[in-house]
Amino acid sequence: MARTPRPVQLAPANLDCQRCGACCYNAVQNQAEGFADWVEIQPDERILRRERLKKRFVILANDGTPHLKLDPQGRCTALTGQLGVHVHCEIYELRPRACRRVEPGDESCLMYRRDRGIDPDS
Ligand code: SF4
Ligand code: SF4
Repeated sequence: MARTPRPVQLAPANLDCQRCGACCYNAVQNQAEGFADWVEIQPDERILRRERLKKRFVILANDGTPHLKLDPQGRCTALTGQLGVHVHCEIYELRPRACRRVEPGDESCLMYRRDRGIDPDS
């Protein structure tokens, strides 16, 4: 299942993504709804044309749609570092559109941070 459309902005965009990474995990609600996949990749996205990266970071969901590959904990395999401390996206320039929809401080962001126990004000 892909991330939801851009939500309403509720808080100032003063959160530091490099000290977070929460939205790079399959969300608790998505898992509760039975979805093992998280970030969908549209057919025209550049990462699908990069064979090496595709092999490393992309899987096909049960319905055949490409998604970012997750580890057993539901974490995107392109995310390096320690969650909530310092993280880095290995494919930042090629990350799917769905990754770009979440913005620091928006409703989804705050929900994902709560999912992972990351202080909303840190
Ligand atoms: S959950 Fe919010 S602050 Fe954390 S990485 Fe995603 S957009 Fe950035
Ligand atoms: S591709 Fe990058 S931004 Fe998107 S979920 Fe994975 S680590 Fe996060």
